[in-house]
Amino acid sequence: MKNLPSRRALGCGLAVAGLVAVSSLTGPAASARVATDARGVCVPGAGSAARAMHGAKDANELTRAQVAAIERATKSALAQKRANAAKHGDTFTGARLANGSVTVPVYFHVVQAGTALSQGNIPAKQVTDQIAVLNAAYSATPFKFALTATEHTTNSKWFTGLRSGSRNEKQMKAALRKGGKNALNIYTASLANGLLGWATFPSSYASNPTYDGVVIEYSSVPGGTAAPYNLGDTATHEAGHWVGLYHTFQGGCTGGDLVADTAPEASAAFGCPVGRDTCTSDSLVDPIRNFMDYTDDACMNSFTAGQATRSSDQWVAFRA
Ligand SMILES: [Zn+2]
Repeated sequence: MKNLPSRRALGCGLAVAGLVAVSSLTGPAASARVATDARGVCVPGAGSAARAMHGAKDANELTRAQVAAIERATKSALAQKRANAAKHGDTFTGARLANGSVTVPVYFHVVQAGTALSQGNIPAKQVTDQIAVLNAAYSATPFKFALTATEHTTNSKWFTGLRSGSRNEKQMKAALRKGGKNALNIYTASLANGLLGWATFPSSYASNPTYDGVVIEYSSVPGGTAAPYNLGDTATHEAGHWVGLYHTFQGGCTGGDLVADTAPEASAAFGCPVGRDTCTSDSLVDPIRNFMDYTDDACMNSFTAGQATRSSDQWVAFRA
Protein backbone atom coordinates (compact mmCIF):
# COMPACT_ATOMS: atom_id res chain seq x y z
CA MET A 1 0.00 0.00 0.00
CA LYS A 2 0.87 3.55 -0.30
CA ASN A 3 -0.77 6.42 1.48
CA LEU A 4 -0.90 10.13 1.07
CA PRO A 5 0.87 12.63 3.27
CA SER A 6 -1.95 12.91 5.67
CA ARG A 7 -2.19 9.23 5.88
CA ARG A 8 0.28 6.50 6.37
CA ALA A 9 -0.21 2.91 5.58
CA LEU A 10 1.31 -0.42 5.04
CA GLY A 11 -0.65 -3.52 4.60
CA CYS A 12 -3.94 -3.03 2.88
CA GLY A 13 -6.71 -0.62 3.37
CA LEU A 14 -8.89 -2.01 6.01
CA ALA A 15 -8.07 -4.18 8.86
CA VAL A 16 -10.86 -6.07 10.45
CA ALA A 17 -13.58 -5.55 7.95
CA GLY A 18 -11.39 -6.75 5.15
CA LEU A 19 -10.38 -9.76 7.13
CA VAL A 20 -13.90 -10.87 7.69
CA ALA A 21 -14.54 -10.57 4.03
CA VAL A 22 -11.60 -12.77 3.33
CA SER A 23 -13.10 -16.05 4.34
CA SER A 24 -16.09 -15.64 2.14
CA LEU A 25 -13.86 -14.87 -0.78
CA THR A 26 -11.26 -17.44 -0.25
CA GLY A 27 -11.49 -20.56 -2.30
CA PRO A 28 -9.01 -23.42 -2.57
CA ALA A 29 -7.00 -24.78 0.23
CA ALA A 30 -3.67 -23.21 -0.51
CA SER A 31 -4.78 -19.67 0.01
CA ALA A 32 -7.38 -20.52 2.55
CA ARG A 33 -4.44 -21.44 4.69
CA VAL A 34 -2.92 -18.08 4.05
CA ALA A 35 -6.15 -16.41 4.97
CA THR A 36 -6.31 -18.28 8.21
CA ASP A 37 -2.95 -16.93 9.09
CA ALA A 38 -4.09 -13.46 8.33
CA ARG A 39 -4.31 -11.32 11.36
CA GLY A 40 -4.94 -7.67 11.14
CA VAL A 41 -4.38 -7.56 7.46
CA CYS A 42 -6.83 -6.77 4.88
CA VAL A 43 -7.79 -8.66 1.96
CA PRO A 44 -8.17 -12.10 0.55
CA GLY A 45 -5.58 -14.65 1.33
CA ALA A 46 -3.55 -12.12 3.25
CA GLY A 47 -2.93 -10.99 -0.23
CA SER A 48 -2.89 -7.24 -0.05
CA ALA A 49 -0.54 -4.48 0.82
CA ALA A 50 -0.93 -0.82 0.37
CA ARG A 51 0.59 2.62 0.28
CA ALA A 52 -0.62 5.35 2.53
CA MET A 53 -0.18 9.07 2.68
CA HIS A 54 1.91 10.43 5.46
CA GLY A 55 -0.09 10.50 8.65
CA ALA A 56 -2.83 8.24 7.38
CA LYS A 57 -3.84 5.44 9.59
CA ASP A 58 -3.28 2.03 8.22
CA ALA A 59 -3.06 -1.01 10.39
CA ASN A 60 -2.62 -3.34 7.57
CA GLU A 61 0.99 -4.24 7.42
CA LEU A 62 1.54 -7.92 6.89
CA THR A 63 2.28 -9.84 10.04
CA ARG A 64 5.19 -12.21 10.24
CA ALA A 65 2.72 -15.08 10.10
CA GLN A 66 1.28 -13.76 6.88
CA VAL A 67 4.69 -13.36 5.34
CA ALA A 68 5.56 -16.87 6.44
CA ALA A 69 2.37 -18.15 4.84
CA ILE A 70 3.20 -16.47 1.56
CA GLU A 71 6.70 -17.93 1.65
CA ARG A 72 5.31 -21.41 2.31
CA ALA A 73 2.89 -21.02 -0.58
CA THR A 74 5.77 -19.96 -2.81
CA LYS A 75 7.86 -22.96 -1.88
CA SER A 76 5.00 -25.29 -2.48
CA ALA A 77 4.11 -23.70 -5.83
CA LEU A 78 7.70 -24.05 -7.02
CA ALA A 79 7.85 -27.66 -5.81
CA GLN A 80 4.66 -28.34 -7.72
CA LYS A 81 6.17 -26.89 -10.89
CA ARG A 82 9.26 -29.00 -10.42
CA ALA A 83 7.16 -32.12 -9.94
CA ASN A 84 5.01 -31.36 -12.98
CA ALA A 85 8.07 -30.82 -15.13
CA ALA A 86 9.62 -34.06 -13.91
CA LYS A 87 6.44 -35.90 -14.79
CA HIS A 88 6.89 -34.77 -18.36
CA GLY A 89 10.56 -35.56 -18.39
CA ASP A 90 11.46 -31.88 -18.24
CA THR A 91 13.68 -30.00 -15.86
CA PHE A 92 12.32 -27.02 -14.03
CA THR A 93 15.17 -24.66 -13.30
CA GLY A 94 13.21 -21.76 -11.87
CA ALA A 95 15.84 -19.57 -13.47
CA ARG A 96 15.66 -15.81 -13.07
CA LEU A 97 13.73 -14.37 -15.99
CA ALA A 98 15.73 -12.07 -18.24
CA ASN A 99 15.10 -8.36 -18.01
CA GLY A 100 12.26 -7.32 -20.27
CA SER A 101 11.34 -10.90 -21.12
CA VAL A 102 7.82 -10.76 -19.69
CA THR A 103 5.26 -8.51 -21.29
CA VAL A 104 2.44 -7.88 -18.87
CA PRO A 105 -0.90 -7.00 -20.46
CA VAL A 106 -2.45 -4.09 -18.57
CA TYR A 107 -6.17 -3.49 -18.29
CA PHE A 108 -6.67 0.02 -17.01
CA HIS A 109 -10.05 0.58 -15.41
CA VAL A 110 -10.91 4.22 -14.99
CA VAL A 111 -13.77 4.27 -12.50
CA GLN A 112 -15.47 7.62 -12.32
CA ALA A 113 -18.45 9.38 -10.79
CA GLY A 114 -19.00 11.63 -13.80
CA THR A 115 -17.28 13.17 -16.76
CA ALA A 116 -15.15 15.77 -14.94
CA LEU A 117 -11.52 15.04 -14.13
CA SER A 118 -12.36 15.73 -10.47
CA GLN A 119 -14.89 12.92 -10.77
CA GLY A 120 -12.15 10.54 -11.80
CA ASN A 121 -12.38 10.85 -15.55
CA ILE A 122 -8.65 10.54 -16.22
CA PRO A 123 -7.63 11.53 -19.73
CA ALA A 124 -5.90 9.01 -21.98
CA LYS A 125 -2.62 10.93 -21.73
CA GLN A 126 -2.42 10.32 -17.98
CA VAL A 127 -3.04 6.63 -18.54
CA THR A 128 -0.28 6.29 -21.13
CA ASP A 129 2.02 8.40 -18.96
CA GLN A 130 1.32 6.02 -16.09
CA ILE A 131 2.30 3.04 -18.22
CA ALA A 132 5.50 4.87 -19.23
CA VAL A 133 6.34 5.47 -15.55
CA LEU A 134 5.85 1.77 -14.86
CA ASN A 135 8.11 0.77 -17.71
CA ALA A 136 10.84 3.14 -16.62
CA ALA A 137 10.65 1.90 -13.04
CA TYR A 138 10.78 -1.78 -14.00
CA SER A 139 13.48 -1.47 -16.67
CA ALA A 140 15.93 -3.57 -14.64
CA THR A 141 13.37 -6.30 -13.97
CA PRO A 142 11.81 -9.03 -16.14
CA PHE A 143 8.69 -6.94 -16.68
CA LYS A 144 7.40 -4.71 -19.42
CA PHE A 145 3.91 -3.30 -19.27
CA ALA A 146 1.72 -3.08 -22.35
CA LEU A 147 -1.56 -1.21 -22.23
CA THR A 148 -4.12 -3.64 -23.64
CA ALA A 149 -7.25 -1.64 -22.93
CA THR A 150 -8.51 1.40 -21.08
CA GLU A 151 -12.07 1.11 -19.90
CA HIS A 152 -14.12 3.92 -18.38
CA THR A 153 -16.90 2.96 -15.99
CA THR A 154 -19.23 5.46 -14.40
CA ASN A 155 -20.31 4.27 -10.97
CA SER A 156 -20.22 6.72 -8.09
CA LYS A 157 -20.46 3.96 -5.46
CA TRP A 158 -17.32 2.34 -6.75
CA PHE A 159 -15.54 5.63 -7.24
CA THR A 160 -16.30 7.55 -4.07
CA GLY A 161 -14.36 6.64 -0.96
CA LEU A 162 -13.51 3.14 -2.14
CA ARG A 163 -12.23 0.90 0.64
CA SER A 164 -10.01 -2.12 0.49
CA GLY A 165 -11.98 -5.29 1.07
CA SER A 166 -15.33 -3.54 0.73
CA ARG A 167 -18.36 -4.90 -1.05
CA ASN A 168 -18.03 -2.09 -3.56
CA GLU A 169 -14.49 -3.10 -4.36
CA LYS A 170 -15.45 -6.73 -4.81
CA GLN A 171 -18.41 -5.85 -7.01
CA MET A 172 -16.25 -3.54 -9.08
CA LYS A 173 -13.56 -6.13 -9.65
CA ALA A 174 -16.05 -8.92 -10.31
CA ALA A 175 -17.63 -6.78 -13.00
CA LEU A 176 -14.50 -5.35 -14.56
CA ARG A 177 -11.48 -7.62 -14.18
CA LYS A 178 -10.03 -8.99 -17.39
CA GLY A 179 -7.33 -11.40 -18.48
CA GLY A 180 -5.56 -14.26 -16.74
CA LYS A 181 -3.07 -14.53 -13.93
CA ASN A 182 -0.46 -12.63 -15.93
CA ALA A 183 -2.72 -9.62 -16.56
CA LEU A 184 -2.33 -6.52 -14.46
CA ASN A 185 -5.67 -4.91 -13.79
CA ILE A 186 -5.34 -1.35 -12.51
CA TYR A 187 -8.39 0.39 -11.06
CA THR A 188 -8.46 4.11 -10.37
CA ALA A 189 -10.92 5.60 -7.88
CA SER A 190 -11.11 8.07 -5.01
CA LEU A 191 -9.86 6.03 -2.08
CA ALA A 192 -10.95 6.23 1.55
CA ASN A 193 -8.76 6.60 4.61
CA GLY A 194 -5.85 8.40 3.03
CA LEU A 195 -4.73 5.40 1.09
CA LEU A 196 -2.96 5.87 -2.17
CA GLY A 197 -3.45 2.32 -3.25
CA TRP A 198 -3.43 -1.34 -2.45
CA ALA A 199 -2.63 -4.53 -4.23
CA THR A 200 -2.95 -8.29 -4.10
CA PHE A 201 0.03 -10.61 -3.97
CA PRO A 202 0.71 -13.29 -6.59
CA SER A 203 0.15 -16.05 -4.04
CA SER A 204 -3.48 -15.10 -3.59
CA TYR A 205 -4.37 -15.28 -7.27
CA ALA A 206 -5.33 -18.96 -7.31
CA SER A 207 -7.83 -18.70 -4.50
CA ASN A 208 -9.44 -15.50 -5.70
CA PRO A 209 -8.57 -14.61 -9.28
CA THR A 210 -11.35 -12.04 -9.58
CA TYR A 211 -9.91 -9.98 -6.77
CA ASP A 212 -6.41 -9.89 -8.24
CA GLY A 213 -5.04 -6.49 -9.16
CA VAL A 214 -4.03 -3.03 -8.14
CA VAL A 215 -6.23 -0.18 -6.96
CA ILE A 216 -4.82 3.34 -6.97
CA GLU A 217 -6.00 6.81 -6.07
CA TYR A 218 -7.00 8.41 -9.35
CA SER A 219 -5.17 11.64 -8.56
CA SER A 220 -1.86 9.77 -8.05
CA VAL A 221 -1.30 9.21 -11.75
CA PRO A 222 1.28 11.42 -13.50
CA GLY A 223 -0.06 14.96 -13.59
CA GLY A 224 -2.69 14.26 -10.94
CA THR A 225 -3.42 16.44 -7.95
CA ALA A 226 -2.13 14.19 -5.14
CA ALA A 227 1.23 15.97 -4.77
CA PRO A 228 3.76 14.85 -3.60
CA TYR A 229 2.35 11.54 -4.78
CA ASN A 230 1.42 12.49 -8.30
CA LEU A 231 4.28 11.23 -10.43
CA GLY A 232 2.81 7.78 -10.88
CA ASP A 233 4.85 5.83 -8.34
CA THR A 234 1.87 4.63 -6.39
CA ALA A 235 1.19 2.33 -9.34
CA THR A 236 4.89 1.42 -9.34
CA HIS A 237 4.72 0.55 -5.64
CA GLU A 238 1.47 -1.40 -5.89
CA ALA A 239 2.65 -3.29 -8.96
CA GLY A 240 5.65 -4.20 -6.82
CA HIS A 241 3.33 -5.97 -4.40
CA TRP A 242 1.50 -7.49 -7.35
CA VAL A 243 4.75 -9.14 -8.47
CA GLY A 244 5.41 -10.30 -4.93
CA LEU A 245 7.53 -7.63 -3.25
CA TYR A 246 7.14 -6.64 0.39
CA HIS A 247 7.72 -3.21 1.86
CA THR A 248 11.34 -2.39 2.60
CA PHE A 249 10.26 -1.90 6.21
CA GLN A 250 8.52 -5.26 6.41
CA GLY A 251 9.80 -7.00 9.51
CA GLY A 252 11.53 -3.87 10.78
CA CYS A 253 15.19 -4.23 11.63
CA THR A 254 14.98 -8.00 11.80
CA GLY A 255 13.38 -10.31 9.35
CA GLY A 256 13.09 -7.67 6.72
CA ASP A 257 11.60 -8.00 3.28
CA LEU A 258 13.40 -11.25 2.39
CA VAL A 259 15.54 -9.43 -0.13
CA ALA A 260 19.21 -9.41 0.76
CA ASP A 261 20.25 -6.15 -0.87
CA THR A 262 17.63 -3.84 0.59
CA ALA A 263 18.79 -2.40 3.88
CA PRO A 264 16.40 -3.04 6.76
CA GLU A 265 14.53 -0.12 8.29
CA ALA A 266 12.47 0.08 11.43
CA SER A 267 9.48 1.80 9.90
CA ALA A 268 8.16 3.42 6.76
CA ALA A 269 9.87 6.62 5.67
CA PHE A 270 7.91 9.64 4.48
CA GLY A 271 8.97 12.73 2.59
CA CYS A 272 12.56 12.24 1.52
CA PRO A 273 14.69 11.89 4.67
CA VAL A 274 18.15 11.53 3.19
CA GLY A 275 20.51 9.75 5.56
CA ARG A 276 17.73 8.31 7.71
CA ASP A 277 19.07 5.32 9.61
CA THR A 278 16.62 3.55 11.86
CA CYS A 279 18.39 0.22 12.31
CA THR A 280 21.60 0.36 14.25
CA SER A 281 22.20 -3.32 13.70
CA ASP A 282 23.69 -2.55 10.31
CA SER A 283 25.90 0.10 8.85
CA LEU A 284 23.47 0.96 6.09
CA VAL A 285 21.15 3.91 5.79
CA ASP A 286 17.46 3.27 5.19
CA PRO A 287 16.37 2.47 1.63
CA ILE A 288 14.32 5.63 1.23
CA ARG A 289 14.84 5.67 -2.56
CA ASN A 290 13.28 2.29 -2.95
CA PHE A 291 9.87 2.06 -4.61
CA MET A 292 8.71 -0.23 -1.81
CA ASP A 293 9.10 2.42 0.87
CA TYR A 294 6.53 5.21 1.52
CA THR A 295 8.54 8.26 0.54
CA ASP A 296 7.44 10.94 -1.92
CA ASP A 297 7.27 9.98 -5.57
CA ALA A 298 10.13 12.32 -6.39
CA CYS A 299 12.25 10.59 -3.75
CA MET A 300 11.78 6.98 -4.78
CA ASN A 301 13.64 5.83 -7.84
CA SER A 302 14.77 2.24 -7.64
CA PHE A 303 14.29 -1.45 -7.20
CA THR A 304 17.33 -3.48 -6.21
CA ALA A 305 18.72 -6.45 -8.12
CA GLY A 306 17.49 -8.64 -5.29
CA GLN A 307 13.97 -7.33 -5.66
CA ALA A 308 14.10 -8.04 -9.41
CA THR A 309 15.13 -11.61 -8.61
CA ARG A 310 12.42 -12.03 -6.01
CA SER A 311 9.75 -10.70 -8.37
CA SER A 312 11.00 -13.09 -11.04
CA ASP A 313 10.71 -16.03 -8.62
CA GLN A 314 7.24 -14.94 -7.61
CA TRP A 315 6.23 -14.66 -11.23
CA VAL A 316 7.52 -18.13 -12.04
CA ALA A 317 5.74 -19.55 -9.02
CA PHE A 318 2.36 -17.92 -9.50
CA ARG A 319 1.86 -15.96 -12.68
CA ALA A 320 3.79 -17.77 -15.44
ZN1 LIG B 1 2.60 -1.06 -0.02
